[in-house]
Amino acid sequence: MSTDRTDRTDRTDRTGRAVDRDSSPVDHAAVAMAVSAIEADLVALRRDLHAHPEPSWEETRTTEVVAAHLAGAGLTVGPLPTATGLACEVGTGPALVALRADLDALRLTDPKDVPYRSMVVGVCHACGHDLHTAAAVGAARALAGVLVPGQGRVRIVFQPAEESIPSGARPLAEGGVVDGARAIFALHCDPQLDVGQVGISAGPITSAADLVEIRLTGPGGHTARPHRTADLVNVAARLAVDLPSSLDRLTDPRDGVNLTFGAIAAGDAGNAIPTTAVLRGSLRATGRAGWEDAGKLLPGLVAAIAEPLGATWDLDHRIGAPPVENDPWATRLLGGAATAVVGPGGVLPTRQSGGSEDFSWFLEQVPGAFARLGITPPGAEPIDIHAGAFDVDERAIALGARLLAGAALEAFAAPTP
Ligand SMILES: [Zn+2]
Ligand SMILES: [Zn+2]
Repeated sequence: MSTDRTDRTDRTDRTGRAVDRDSSPVDHAAVAMAVSAIEADLVALRRDLHAHPEPSWEETRTTEVVAAHLAGAGLTVGPLPTATGLACEVGTGPALVALRADLDALRLTDPKDVPYRSMVVGVCHACGHDLHTAAAVGAARALAGVLVPGQGRVRIVFQPAEESIPSGARPLAEGGVVDGARAIFALHCDPQLDVGQVGISAGPITSAADLVEIRLTGPGGHTARPHRTADLVNVAARLAVDLPSSLDRLTDPRDGVNLTFGAIAAGDAGNAIPTTAVLRGSLRATGRAGWEDAGKLLPGLVAAIAEPLGATWDLDHRIGAPPVENDPWATRLLGGAATAVVGPGGVLPTRQSGGSEDFSWFLEQVPGAFARLGITPPGAEPIDIHAGAFDVDERAIALGARLLAGAALEAFAAPTP
C-alpha cells in the first residue's frame, strides 16, 4: 500500500462530505483504501462470528477463527495470558500503540431472521462484539499495509469475557499486555447513533459496576415467635431498603453511587421463618471515588443492619470495572481520526452512560480513549444492545476499522503530552 502523502485525491468520507486533512499529518486516505479492499472479508468474518457466538471465557472457536483470519493475511498472532483471546502485532519500531477488541457474546436468544442468525441456542452477539472484533481485524490488516518500517508497532488485543464479572480486561491489563504503549483505543457499538456518526468525549463516559450478593442465614422457626429466631425476611427487606439509602448518605452525591437489587429470595411458607435468604444486586457509580468508598462501606453497613436482628451474613462483592475515563490527549487523537473517517459533522459529543465497560482496566495502565460507533441505519428505529434482536448496519465495520487504524497512526504522529 502506498504511503505517498502527496496522493490526496480521496478527500471525502463515505457520505461524500469533505474531510479536512490539513490538521493532521496522517494519511487517512491510505487507511480508507486499505480497508475498502478488505471490506467484504470483514463483513464475512463478522457474519461468521455472529452465527457462531460464544459466551464469556468460552471464546475458543472465536479465538481460532480470528487467529486463522489474521495468519491468513500474513500477520503474526500470539496467545494472551488468558485461556481464550489473542494478540496480533503489526509494524516495527520502538513506539507502541494498543488497540482493543472484545470477543464474547451474551446468553440471549437471537430472534432475527437473517442468514447470519446465531446457530447457538441461547447465545448471541447482542452487544456488537462481533463488529468490534471484525473492525479490529480490519485495522490490523490495514495498518500492516500502511505502516512504514520503523514508524511503530500496533498491538491489537482481542480480549475474552468483557461481559462477565470478573472480566477479561483486568488480568490482561495488570499482566502487562499493554505495558509500554503510548496510547490505547477501543470502540463500542451505539444504537443511538446512525452509521456514519461517532460519539466521543473526554472524561468519564461509562460507569463503574460491581455485583453484590448478600446471603443471610438463621435458625428459622415459627412466625408466631420471631423473637426466638432471626427473622430473615425482615432483615432482607431492611437490607434492600436501608443499604442503598445508607450508601446514598455516606458517599459523595457527585459520584452517583447506586445500589439496586435485582433479585431477592427467602422462604416458602406464610407461617415459617426461613433459614436462608439471598439478595443480589449491582453497585454502580459514575465517579471512581464514590465507587471505591461504597465498596469499603458495604461490609460494615450489612453488619450494622443484620447483626442486631440475629442474622448471620455473608457478603460477596465482585469487583466489575471502574468508569472508562477518556484521556484528553488520547481523545483528541481519536477525535482526529473520527473526523477524518466520518467528517466533522459526524463526530458528536457523548454522555456518560450508566453501563460499564472493562476497557477501563487498560486505562489504569496507559492513557487511552473509547469511542461510540454509530451502527443504526439512518431512519431506522434503534434496537438497544443486550436485546436479542440487536443488529448493525454493516457499513459500520469498515468505519470502525478505519477509526481504530487512524487513531493508532494519529498516536504515532502526535507528540506525547
Ligand atoms: Zn454488553
Ligand atoms: Zn459490549
